[in-house]
Amino acid sequence: MREGIHPEYHQAKVVCNCGNEFVTGSTKKDIHVEICSKCHPFYTGQQKAAAARGRIDKFNRKYGVKAE
Ligand SMILES: [Zn+2]
Repeated sequence: MREGIHPEYHQAKVVCNCGNEFVTGSTKKDIHVEICSKCHPFYTGQQKAAAARGRIDKFNRKYGVKAE
């Protein structure tokens, strides 16, 4: 069996904007996503979190707080 013919395969750490982190197999080492299975309404069936975040964004803009 020859070595070195497979692409590098890592346990990639995926970091979501919501703060959730999880590990998946990938040829990339680190992956940043804007939405994940924990915060996406399609998966969770809950849109309250996203709505709350929108209100916080409005609040921050109104009072000049720069959201990261
Ligand atoms: Zn997420």
